[in-house]
Formats: sequence, structure tokens, C-alpha cells
Amino acid sequence: MPKARAYAAAGATTPLAPETILRRDTTDRDVRIDILFCGVCHSDIHQARNEWSTMIATTYPCVPGHEIIGRVTEVGSGVTQHKVGDLVGVGCLVDSDHDCPSCRADLEQFCPNSVFTYNAPDRHLGGVTYGGYSEQIVVDERFVLRVPGNLDPAGAAPLLCAGITTYSPMRHWGVGPGKKVGVVGLGGLGHMGVKFGDALGAHVVVFTTSSAKVEDALRLGADEVVLSTDAAAMGRHAGTFDFILDAVSAEHDLNAYIRLLGLDGNLTMVGAPEKPLPVGIFGLLFGRHSLSGSLIGGIAETQEMLDFCGEKGITADVEVIAIQQINEAYERMLRSDVKYRFSIDMASIRA
Ligand code: NAP
Ligand code: ZN
Repeated sequence: MPKARAYAAAGATTPLAPETILRRDTTDRDVRIDILFCGVCHSDIHQARNEWSTMIATTYPCVPGHEIIGRVTEVGSGVTQHKVGDLVGVGCLVDSDHDCPSCRADLEQFCPNSVFTYNAPDRHLGGVTYGGYSEQIVVDERFVLRVPGNLDPAGAAPLLCAGITTYSPMRHWGVGPGKKVGVVGLGGLGHMGVKFGDALGAHVVVFTTSSAKVEDALRLGADEVVLSTDAAAMGRHAGTFDFILDAVSAEHDLNAYIRLLGLDGNLTMVGAPEKPLPVGIFGLLFGRHSLSGSLIGGIAETQEMLDFCGEKGITADVEVIAIQQINEAYERMLRSDVKYRFSIDMASIRA
């Protein structure tokens, strides 16, 4: 079985370090991919550090990475959708049962037997799956996406998680012309939410804790920016939003955003903080507000999102790093100091 260089966390408090892993021999349905770039998602930090232990405990060594762009180097005999040399993507999912009601509805992310790209039981090799902080990966062709050739691969990598995670709820909740849409937290997910909200024709308001991001938010496509620490500025938007997407990774006050919803307005959480957040129910009763969540997106919708990005020329704003900088990158993300996604140039792993 082919060996591959990777970067792994050996425990919740240890920095990521070089590791050699095995990738399976290709089966009939498999595609082998040389990884060019892998985006760095905050979920990588949550899981490398076992912060989601009550939901998904981390098995070590943990090789994170689910924003993968690469070139196909080998295909199994039954593969029909991809060929050697294609530019392809892999997101948060690498398999499902293909047969449950969720899979039949193209919602593989809700399949009870879905397999996440890393830190999930590996049906082929035993142990757990290993993600994109690696030189190569082998994936069932049904979970491999076509990447439009006009998109810069480094900037396209984050579309595979940050992109679909913000696109999917915006489509579900009808974001478009005439809608007032909020995006909370201008990080990797948030900045994609701004780009999609703008591209879909909505009036986009960014809520940020970082005064240094105000100009960027406007450049990214926001119509207005509010410092969430400014109570008076927050108050001026009370009762006016159709939809708010919350992409914050840490504890914060949800009630401050529920208050901003108009009649039948919805607040969708995509951010996944470690600890539960208190919600005042009266804030939901008045105005028939709803609070919901959203998890990445299905494979068909991920392809739709990539094609939309190809048409509109949308990619993430990335800072390209070498894999050797990954621990520093995690610390910078925790300080909200990234504009707006790190994308690892995976050629660096052979340095
Ligand atoms: P990120 O790049 O680190 O961005 C998070 C942003 O949240 C920061 O840039 C900051 O924005 C804001 N923030 C951070 N700490 C805060 C605090 N204490 N109070 C208020 N705001 C704070 O993270 P990401 O990769 O976008 O991921 C965001 C969250 O989404 C993570 O929890 C991640 O696990 C989750 N996620 C969920 C899904 C899903 O399917 N639902 C998919 C991927 C990721 P400002 O500087 O603008 O305030
Ligand atoms: Zn992610």
C-alpha cells in the first residue's frame, strides 16, 4: 500500500508534526489525488485539540484537512466521472451509505453512515480516515468534485468547506434580491458568506468584533459593517433582518442577533463553538423568529456551488503557507488574524 507524507496531531495538546500514513490501493471506484492545496478550517483546530469531544471525540494521530484541491493521478477500472490529470476537489465527506433517505435526497451530510474526510472510522483500512494535510488521498469517485479550470487552486480549496457551508444555508433560506442578510464573524466561513450574499443579490451587513476588518468587509461585498461591540450601532438594526448567518467559532451572545431579526426572520448557526450558548426563548416567540443550524452541504449542491463560483469568478481570499507553518497558523486563527483563509501549498511537505 502506498505511503504518504502527512502532518498529524499526536494528542490534544501537542503541535502538529510530520507523520507517515498509508493510503489504500485504488479500488474500482477510487480516484487517487495528488494534493496541491488544502485550506485550514477552524474545525481542524477544534478536532486536532479534541474540543468537540462530546460530539465527535478525536482519535490520534489526527491528520486534519477537508478543503482539498488536487490532480488525479490514478483511477480505478470502474471510474467514469474523473480521469488522470483532472483538477478535482474533496470536501468534508468521503463516503455515505448511498441508500438512506438523506442520500436519496442528495443530503449525504445527514446520512447516518456518512464518513468524514478525517477522524471518522475508515471502512477500507480500519482506524480513522486521514485528511488533506498530506501529499495524496484516495477517495470514492462519488465524493470527488470537478473544479472549474478558471479558478485559482489555492483560493478554490476553501470552497470545499467554507464555501459550501455558507452557500447551502443561504440557498435554503432564500437569500437573494430584496433580502437583508447578516453575516456574523468575518473569518474563513464569514468572508465566503459575504461573497455569496453579495453574488446572490442580497443587502449584506457584516457583524465583526475586529475594527481592522471594516474596510475589507466592504471590499468583499458587504453593504454595511457593524462593530458588534457597539450596542448603539447594533440597536439601529433591531427587527430588520430576513436572515443572519452566524459563523463564529467561540462563545458569544446569540440573543444580540435574534433581536435583529424581522418577522419570520431566521438565524442560522454554522459556527460550532465548543460550549452550549444560552438562548432567551422570548426572543424567538415575538416575531416568530427561528434559530437553526446547517452542516456543510450535499455533494450535488457542492458541485453546484463550485460551478456557480466558476461562473462568477469567486474564490476565497487566501494567505498561502507551507505545511511547516501550520501550528503558527492555528495560533493566528485563534487571534482572528487571517485574511481570510490559510491555504497550505502541499508541495511544501516534500521540502
Ligand atoms: P475562523 O476563520 O477562525 O473565523 C471565526 C471568526 O469568528 C473570527 O474571524 C472572528 O470574526 C469571530 N470570532 C472569533 N472568536 C470570537 C469571539 N470570542 N466572539 C465573537 N466573535 C469571534 O473560523 P472558520 O473556519 O470560519 O469557522 C467558524 C466556525 O464554523 C468554527 O466553529 C468551525 O468549526 C465551524 N464550521 C462549521 C461548519 C458546518 O458545517 N456547520 C463547517 C465548517 C466550519 P471577527 O474578527 O469578524 O469578529
Ligand atoms: Zn471545515
